Amino acid sequence: MAFEPVIGLEVHAQLKTRTKIFCGCSTKFGAPPNTHVCPVCLGMPGVLPVLNQKVVEYAIRMALATNCRIAGESRFARKNYFYPDLPKGYQISQYEMPIAEHGHIHITLSDGAVRKIGITRIHMEEDAGKSSHDPSRAVSFVDYNRTGVPLLEIVSEPEMHSPEEAGAYLRRLRSLLRYLDISDGNMEEGSFRCDANISIREKGAAELGTRTELKNLNSFRFVEKALAYEIKRQIEMVKDGEKVVQETLLWDVNQNRSVSMRGKEEAHDYRYFPDPDLLPLVIEEEMVARIGKSLPELPDQKKERFVTHYGLPEYDADILTAGRDLAAYFECCARQVKNPKTASNWIMGELTALLNACGKTIDESPVSAEDLAKLIALMEDGVISGKIAKAVFSDMAETGKAPDEIVAEKGLVQVSDASAVEPVIDRIIAAHTAEVEKYRGGNTKLLGFFVGQVMKETGGKANPRLVNELLSKKLG
Ligand code: ADP
Ligand code: MG
Ligand code: ZN
Repeated sequence: MAFEPVIGLEVHAQLKTRTKIFCGCSTKFGAPPNTHVCPVCLGMPGVLPVLNQKVVEYAIRMALATNCRIAGESRFARKNYFYPDLPKGYQISQYEMPIAEHGHIHITLSDGAVRKIGITRIHMEEDAGKSSHDPSRAVSFVDYNRTGVPLLEIVSEPEMHSPEEAGAYLRRLRSLLRYLDISDGNMEEGSFRCDANISIREKGAAELGTRTELKNLNSFRFVEKALAYEIKRQIEMVKDGEKVVQETLLWDVNQNRSVSMRGKEEAHDYRYFPDPDLLPLVIEEEMVARIGKSLPELPDQKKERFVTHYGLPEYDADILTAGRDLAAYFECCARQVKNPKTASNWIMGELTALLNACGKTIDESPVSAEDLAKLIALMEDGVISGKIAKAVFSDMAETGKAPDEIVAEKGLVQVSDASAVEPVIDRIIAAHTAEVEKYRGGNTKLLGFFVGQVMKETGGKANPRLVNELLSKKLG
């Protein structure tokens, strides 16, 4: 029996507004505990929430970017539960009438396949505070700075079928949030959180199997690992004639396994009801149109433009448009060189390797787009060879100097003058009589050997095209 995994993801993204969703307190991260609080976000009796318009705008931005239908009227609801980090005893969220539904995004897999994943709904809600426990003492702390920080909850359809698809979906959502400049999408810092729902079913079956839910996965790698583990666990259970039980699981990063947090019986009944303190939220079409016009070019469109305008392969265009800064870096480079694909190769190859090695992001790159473009132009104009260009690039990264400066300083200009290269070739031919004989006997693969020798002798500076030409002539 063959099984198919089915995955649906719930994402909570913290929005980058200056103030909280229902009061004027700052959302700034890292302040001393309980300094960004007021009677509203502390849940004092008799206070009234006032909706932050920026939160609504940001929600609409994301709804448009994910092709959702935006509700002309939506409602806030109270989700009731008790926890020390929730001083009101309820969280203001949206339930039956969310701001947006019925959307989709496209994801690209490592083999280049593009898949459409449905977005069930997007709604706005407030974050809770943060508890911390001191294991050495019988004491707990709570910090309410985070209560009332705005969140978007983005719920997918159960339409993903592998950990890879789930990873690609999450990366694309985060990329959209960052393109829209509405969330920093930082998973490690908790501004982008994911709960993963997972079930298996017999391949081809229409009905969904019983799901488990993995909570609080705080890196893409953990999501993929946890899902892979859970798929295997569920398949083994079913094969052994057991039934998967619906439960909430936590991923144990140290033991690489999922552990039960609570079963279905312990599931909360939140007793949602419309919040009487907040009016129904009416969104005029004109507001949606205005926000629509202000959206930046999004990854899908950018990717298409990179393919048609710069002639890049889909694969390159996909990688280069994953982030706005990376895309801008490429465009800056591509505008200044003859062949944009060369710029793409350098960015995806040398530059990415450099950034990974020094743990920097593209906007902190030690080599600017202008300088990389100059380096590529030197190569395209035949001033330096590709091999020398790589050495110059390392120098640029280390010293921050411009490529032409390094080339001049180190005397790396390519030698394209036949009268300078010929004597070297003659010397090498004279020194390798055995190889010359083999070459003339039909082993033409040896040409590479001779080219290598000449390059070595000239410190990589001889123009490779010229070397090839002269060698073929002299050996032939
Ligand atoms: P909640 O977790 O609050 O009960 P839902 O029932 O709406 O919310 O489901 C939440 C997520 O679980 C959605 O992303 C949905 O796609 C996914 N999901 C629901 N049923 C299954 C299932 N049988 N297998 C996998 N994912 C599922
Ligand atoms: Mg859930
Ligand atoms: Zn407040």
